[in-house]
Amino acid sequence: MTTIENGPGTRELAGKRALVTGGSRGIGAAVVRQLLDAGAEVLTTARSATGTVPEGANFVAADVRTRAGAEALAATAQEALGGVDIVVHNAGGARPHEGALAIPDEEWQDALDLNYLASVRLDSLLVPGMRERRSGRIVHISSAAVLTPVGPFLHYVAAKAALETYSQGLALELAPFGIRVNVVSPGRTATPGGEATREQWAEVSARMDAAPGPTNAADTTPLGRDGRPEDIAHAVLFLLSDRAGWLTASNLVVDGGEFPRG
Ligand code: NDP
Repeated sequence: MTTIENGPGTRELAGKRALVTGGSRGIGAAVVRQLLDAGAEVLTTARSATGTVPEGANFVAADVRTRAGAEALAATAQEALGGVDIVVHNAGGARPHEGALAIPDEEWQDALDLNYLASVRLDSLLVPGMRERRSGRIVHISSAAVLTPVGPFLHYVAAKAALETYSQGLALELAPFGIRVNVVSPGRTATPGGEATREQWAEVSARMDAAPGPTNAADTTPLGRDGRPEDIAHAVLFLLSDRAGWLTASNLVVDGGEFPRG
């Protein structure tokens, strides 16, 4: 029988070097905190530093939406950590509009850059090192919204759907090199970005005919509440740990049961 020496509550990721995008608040900050608790060395990034970057993490300001931003971040990570064993692609989001046809061209591009191509570009720079070491762990943060693609967010949801397909393909390609690649799809989670977006969505849907607006988690989520950033981070940490050693190309939906699926 194979035993896993490092389990939950231990420093199970000691010696691992992790990069987390968007770790200044919300889900990313919770992931950073749990990685630090698990013993990993962590570099995180956002466009601007805030007082909420978890203590103990290295921080570098970066915008992941461009190839140049990804290159600068990968170079900094290489220099600061000496190599990257773990990547959590968490930075994401988009502004809602009055239906699919009202989304401006530049916001389609922006949504693709932030929610999809940022991961593709960073992976292309960081995976070669993992492949050489024949070891690596990657988590892409998608969204349970992919399961209900509504017009005001179609640019965001389509980009996340592309991210999921890309992630699964990458997982198959990298499995022979000992690199595991998985997706975590949060349901509605109480974060600064999530709350601001739902307020904008309520305003937008009020101006539209027969458009669904944001729901109340207490009514629509079987577990009766919004997610907490820590709920999502627990799932991410599990997928990064040795406990998930036989999991790759998976998509863990963490949504309080809102969207049941097999
Ligand atoms: P927040 O808006 O609260 O935090 C987002 C983080 O990403 C911040 O640190 C932000 O810092 C950073 N960020 C945003 N844009 C960029 C950029 N261009 N370059 C670098 N960093 C950036 O988001 P959440 O914690 O709510 O969301 C985290 C992830 O979870 C996202 O991918 C989101 O799509 C997904 N998600 C969230 C849900 C929710 O209900 N909260 C539901 C489903 C999915 P700064 O602005 O300073 O750059």
